[in-house]
Amino acid sequence: IGRMTAEEVEGLRNDLEGITVRGKHCPKPIKTWAHCGVSKKVMDALKRNNYEKPTPIQSQAIPAIMSGRDVIGIAKTGSGKTLAFVLPMIRHIMDQPPLEEGDGPIAILMIPTRELALQISTECKKFTKPHGLKVVCVYGGTGISEQIAELKRGCEVIVCTPGRMIDMLTANNGRVTNLRRVTYIVLDEADRMFDMGFEPQVMKIIDNVRPDRQTVMFSATFPRQMEALARRILQKPIEVQVGGRS
Ligand code: ADP
Ligand code: MG
Repeated sequence: IGRMTAEEVEGLRNDLEGITVRGKHCPKPIKTWAHCGVSKKVMDALKRNNYEKPTPIQSQAIPAIMSGRDVIGIAKTGSGKTLAFVLPMIRHIMDQPPLEEGDGPIAILMIPTRELALQISTECKKFTKPHGLKVVCVYGGTGISEQIAELKRGCEVIVCTPGRMIDMLTANNGRVTNLRRVTYIVLDEADRMFDMGFEPQVMKIIDNVRPDRQTVMFSATFPRQMEALARRILQKPIEVQVGGRS
């Protein structure tokens, strides 16, 4: 805390109030973007978008994910969960060798609805674009051929609804894309995902990704029924919760 003024200390205390962490060896929360190890390009994008400082869920989930751990993040709608998984994702991707011809994505973000998937991919691109990373959004209810063409050109990130993603894995005899390079998986809006009955599709995708992947799950609520599933897909997760559990 060192050089902070009394006012800053008080502000920090208020910000961090109501954050609960479960799980071993969780890194400390960050107070400013400069503390979390993002690139200069990401810092500039944060500035351009007037994201002054991390929200409570970001302050604790970002260092936890950056440390390489599996994470469950629970916080209400509007609390800033998207950046909590997008910023660590960028560093994860930048730490990998660049894509080669025929490579599939490094990160897959699964989202329950087309509207949310489009929203997340727009938010994601604000930070991936400065790094020259490509994001393809894959969702149902629209023609598949344009999305197939985009995927075939290659990308580091796929933002998808689970049903259409499975269609993509089987289309053209499985030559559209592949999961061999996937090491970062996000399940966003996990509670809605399961309410909407997408568990089988989600599991089918996850079961085909290498077991040494990093998996993170974000949700507004964490009902008991989701615990068994979380246990199956996450390894020694850190659970970060802002406010009540459901
Ligand atoms: P959630 O997924 O928890 O519902 P979002 O990630 O969609 O929340 O963020 C909600 C809103 O807050 C968005 O408009 C987003 O641009 C904004 N936002 C996110 N992080 C910050 C931040 N650190 N500072 C200011 N605004 C933010
Ligand atoms: Mg969200």
